[in-house]
Amino acid sequence: MSLKIGSHVSIAEGLLGAAKEAASYGASTFMIYTGAPQNTRRTALSNLKIEEGHAFMKEQGIHDIVVHAPYIINLASYKPHIYDLAISFLSSEMERTQALGANYIVLHPGSYTDKDANYGIERIAEGLNQIVNPDTDLWVCLETMAGKGTEIGRNFEELAKIIDKVKYNEKIGVCFDTCHTHDSGYDIIDHFDEVMENFDQVIGLDRLKVFHINGSLNPRGAQKDRHANINADETNPRGKDHIGLDALYRIVHHPVAQDKPLILETPWLDSSTNLYAQEIAMLREDRS
Ligand code: FE
Ligand code: FE
Ligand code: ZN
Repeated sequence: MSLKIGSHVSIAEGLLGAAKEAASYGASTFMIYTGAPQNTRRTALSNLKIEEGHAFMKEQGIHDIVVHAPYIINLASYKPHIYDLAISFLSSEMERTQALGANYIVLHPGSYTDKDANYGIERIAEGLNQIVNPDTDLWVCLETMAGKGTEIGRNFEELAKIIDKVKYNEKIGVCFDTCHTHDSGYDIIDHFDEVMENFDQVIGLDRLKVFHINGSLNPRGAQKDRHANINADETNPRGKDHIGLDALYRIVHHPVAQDKPLILETPWLDSSTNLYAQEIAMLREDRS
């Protein structure tokens, strides 16, 4: 089985540059931020070499662009200026996503800060109800979160509650992040099948659209959200991975992951160590 696997890449050189970077890692898919994740400045679409990017992708057998929404979007915020910005900027990011020819936008559900989880869930659903309508033609994928601070999405139940409250939820999907689910307490190392059964019961596997494949610097349940390089040991300058290659290998080769974009967000070391290429190759390796 050939995996649809890739990593986060830069769009600084347009979609063509992003696709070329992906190809240099031996990737068959990739993820981009449409601009800096921390701000709202965006390059004009006409400068992003979109058609050239798609032609190159076709040539290289690269499919399924995933866009990650910027971190500044917090649909759980009770502060009007943050909430209003989240709604307007997410809408414009969804337009950019479609203009880029991408079918998935991954979104951190949000953080409730001084309120509580129920408030956050209501607020997020209310925000999505202003954005998602019957004409929405891309997957809005809520990401499973580590449970750091006041993040919503620390378990499948919280995501299911949001989805249930969204009126036109046909296009609401989920992005399963291995670091985050491990950090929030799911045993994806020894009981991934059971985790998937639970996902199916609570959310429904038909909503599982994208995977983020990361190691974790912390033991299960730590609620930290610090990504590790796959199988990294103590000698790795970014630290040791607590999930490990074998577990991640089983996940990416599991039937639930088949044909879905699998995106690495592992730490960048330096350009001389092409870690993305190494990690993609390790996960692709034929072990049969
Ligand atoms: Fe994310
Ligand atoms: Fe992620
Ligand atoms: Zn993370």
